[in-house]
Amino acid sequence: MILDSEPLLHSRALYVEGKWVSPVEGGTREILNPADGTAIAVVAEADRTDVATAIAAARTAFAAGHWPATPVTERAELLVRIAELLDTHRDEIARIETLDTGKTLSESHTDIDDVIAVFRYYARLAPTAADRLVDTGNPEVISRVVHEPVGVCALIAPWNYPLLQMSWKIAPALVAGCTMVAKPSEVTPLSTIALVELIDRAGAPPGVVNLVQGSGGVVGAALTDNPDVDLISFTGGAATGATIARTAAEHITRVALELGGKNPHLVFADADHDTAVDAVLTGAFLHSGQVCSAGTRLIVEESIADDFVAELAHRAARIRVGPGMDPATRTGPLVSEEHRAKVEAYVALGISEGATLITGGKRPDDPALESGSFYLPTIFDHCRSDMRIVQEETFGPLLTVERFTTEAEAITLGNDTDYGLAAGVRTTDPSRGERVVRALRHGTVWLNDFGYYTPAAEWGGYGRSGNGRELGPGGLAEYQETKHIWHNTAPKAGGWFTDT
Ligand code: NAD
Repeated sequence: MILDSEPLLHSRALYVEGKWVSPVEGGTREILNPADGTAIAVVAEADRTDVATAIAAARTAFAAGHWPATPVTERAELLVRIAELLDTHRDEIARIETLDTGKTLSESHTDIDDVIAVFRYYARLAPTAADRLVDTGNPEVISRVVHEPVGVCALIAPWNYPLLQMSWKIAPALVAGCTMVAKPSEVTPLSTIALVELIDRAGAPPGVVNLVQGSGGVVGAALTDNPDVDLISFTGGAATGATIARTAAEHITRVALELGGKNPHLVFADADHDTAVDAVLTGAFLHSGQVCSAGTRLIVEESIADDFVAELAHRAARIRVGPGMDPATRTGPLVSEEHRAKVEAYVALGISEGATLITGGKRPDDPALESGSFYLPTIFDHCRSDMRIVQEETFGPLLTVERFTTEAEAITLGNDTDYGLAAGVRTTDPSRGERVVRALRHGTVWLNDFGYYTPAAEWGGYGRSGNGRELGPGGLAEYQETKHIWHNTAPKAGGWFTDT
């Protein structure tokens, strides 16, 4: 068991048909703490055979029909029990998430509270999602549009919000009556193992929720090319999303993609200075920028830009970088050495592209942080929208600054991206605010706020940020098929050929 275990070493990790099992080939993977590079767990590593067994278990459970036919109110009760268990184990899971991802303990607590809210939201929503009666104009016909579970789902999640992203999938899939095989990121699997332990304790029937662990190239691919999967719900990078969409096309498997972002934050000269500086810092540097909706592209009005950027740089340099378990830490390490190397390559690229590095651009000097993959909050001023550091998702603490002089120019810059996940606008002029938020082509737009969401509102991207939506009623619809039932209550002859 991962819960109650100290240390976390040698966790079990494959859960199939209601049992914790070992992988056929006995593979394992070491999980590292990014704050100091130490091993915190060794988890089982599946191969294609294990994945096929897990999919077969989910298929059998779906075909047997008990879970899809369980009344939605009973399915909702399971979600409530899961939420209650998460609440009971809140501190333990927060600790696991922080050790695994590097994020601060308070961020992990916030994530878990959000996860609990998502399970509770779908438990409330699903029983109210009524079927629709359609008026055909014929009183002898009852025409209904009903929703049914889509079937067996492959749920694939990234490493930056492991528990949160997986829960955005498991909660609606479960309450919709689907069965599933979940695969967390091989970099951060631990909180998902804990979640599945709680789902087991909450009484999910065997085969409804299955868990596999392993690399994207082997385990992820085995989940996405299997014709017995009805829906692939994926959150991760755009390149992986494209690979999955191509693979899914072979069997016309439904795909929901939540991909990356390069999210603009537009600051007009009339914005409240202090709250704007604060929000830009949070948007860019929370979780060291490893956030799909991070506001790492500042677009600021020329007349205030010098002062605004100077203040940002001053405050960014004071953000305390350190281990997530230390209460004094404000932002943790990058998730791995490999990922830090990628961010460092982007910083070198920014310098070679001619942007002005005004703070950060290096690892912290503190010798106590040497063994972790830390990187300082970094700001590049005088950027142009054709620079790669402005267009590409760096997924690190790297803020770029562009300047504008007119509202139209700000909107053009804000939409000058292949992505379209999220954007922020700061102005005290309500009419301008409304004009600009409507003009921006992004799935979420914050006006005088940044980064907030609610389980009741859809989340997802325009453009290369993906398709489909999670959360809200749309997030439930992803896991449902739509069926039209035409019931003739008084059938009589009257077809095309009655006269023949
Ligand atoms: P990634 O694409 O490398 O991996 C995501 C998941 O896909 C992992 O579980 C991985 O093992 C798996 N995978 C990798 N290759 C695969 C393949 N060929 N077939 C099937 N599965 C495969 O992404 P990451 O680095 O883990 O996460 C960071 C990315 O996730 C960023 O781009 C970020 O913006 C995005 N993200 C998006 C959202 C959103 O809501 N839109 C939320 C969080 C993260």
